[in-house]
Amino acid sequence: MEKELWEKCAAFHGHECGGLTIGYKAALYAIKLLGLRLPEPARIFRSIRCSRCGESTSEHLIRLCGDEKLCLDCYQAYNRFAV
Ligand SMILES: [Zn+2]
Ligand SMILES: [Zn+2]
Repeated sequence: MEKELWEKCAAFHGHECGGLTIGYKAALYAIKLLGLRLPEPARIFRSIRCSRCGESTSEHLIRLCGDEKLCLDCYQAYNRFAV
């Protein structure tokens, strides 16, 4: 796990070097010291609840309608009424 993290850091930074090592160690130490948990790998899409039907839908399928967040079904129904 930590090796994987290190490799990610090195890839992000471009190369492995002393500065990166110190930053990496300091970050890990800070995480331990503060009792933080490493963030879980980000999910690509967050799930958002449709304002109209309450269905949870992937963020990329949510359409904004004024300040309502609608799932595709509700969005299409809304558009049908609007036209
Ligand atoms: Zn460097
Ligand atoms: Zn809906």
